[in-house]
Amino acid sequence: MDLPDYAIEAKGLVKTYAATKTTPEMRALRGVDLAIPRGSIFGLLGPNGAGKSTFINILAGLCKKTSGTVSIWGRDIDERPRDARAAIGVVPQEIAADPFFTPRESLEVAAGMYAVPPSERRTMELLTALGLGDKANAYVRQLSGGMKRRLMVAKAMVHNPPVLILDEPTAGVDVELRRQLWNYVLELNRKGVTIVLTTHYLEEAQELCDQIAIINRGQVVACEPTTTLLRRMDTRKVLVTPEQPMTAAPALAGFETHLLPSGGFSVTYRTGQSSVEQVLAAIRKTGVHIKDISTEDPDLEDVFVSLTYAAPEAAEI
Ligand code: ADP
Repeated sequence: MDLPDYAIEAKGLVKTYAATKTTPEMRALRGVDLAIPRGSIFGLLGPNGAGKSTFINILAGLCKKTSGTVSIWGRDIDERPRDARAAIGVVPQEIAADPFFTPRESLEVAAGMYAVPPSERRTMELLTALGLGDKANAYVRQLSGGMKRRLMVAKAMVHNPPVLILDEPTAGVDVELRRQLWNYVLELNRKGVTIVLTTHYLEEAQELCDQIAIINRGQVVACEPTTTLLRRMDTRKVLVTPEQPMTAAPALAGFETHLLPSGGFSVTYRTGQSSVEQVLAAIRKTGVHIKDISTEDPDLEDVFVSLTYAAPEAAEI
């Protein structure tokens, strides 16, 4: 069979969680279109509550979508749910290791659940690759947090899926272990495994991913190669201290403004399109008296904020 162009393809994906006695209906995904290229390391970024886990849970078959279509490795999750699920391994956010199994047993059980025949199991190979070779027969409760997390990665790979999904993989993992984890993930990717990584750490996505989708309030607000996204960083910020502290940032035509806790405000502008001089002229027109100004270089966080800032209206039900 020809390999699919996209490891994962979602079209018009909607998820509405029904209202309960205490919570109103929640539209967690509001028509997500996403095409994750085969072979990529793809970052799914967004603030808490954006809908990342909901998306992953739908892929993993843990949550039922409301409408839209999803295919994994070219297999529609409605038409071929088992085949679709066999194509992904999901490393969940929570560590859910059974304390009474050794890592070796843990992987054997996981392989059994995917019906991997014993002759095709790669238990020791996986444990060794994740630096757990010498812990194969230890009790899981004797492993450190980082080791447990690597064991979760090994468990997600027992059926040799072509797509590996890591949901917030480095939360609570120290720098050294994070490196080890990434080295293994990068090696898997070199061998052809498509990696999908959810995170709210921009740096992490920036460092690892060749493409990034930003999701906010259940919608994809950007989906671009990382380099293109970084090029948007031609924004600069002017921080303004007015003579009188303000309670709201002034509206400036063509610029984005935000109130600062100090009573001042920031103005974001594009270096390619405007200058500090134009920003100052716009402020003067509003009658605000400037006491002091400074400028600040942006980071990906700013790009992220400005992208997600543009979305709220579109995101309303
Ligand atoms: P993220 O993973 O980006 O933090 P989630 O997918 O967990 O976002 O959540 C998206 C939205 O859906 C949030 O507003 C969250 O409160 C809501 N949500 C998530 N799971 C449930 C659920 N089981 N029932 C009701 N609402 C939920």
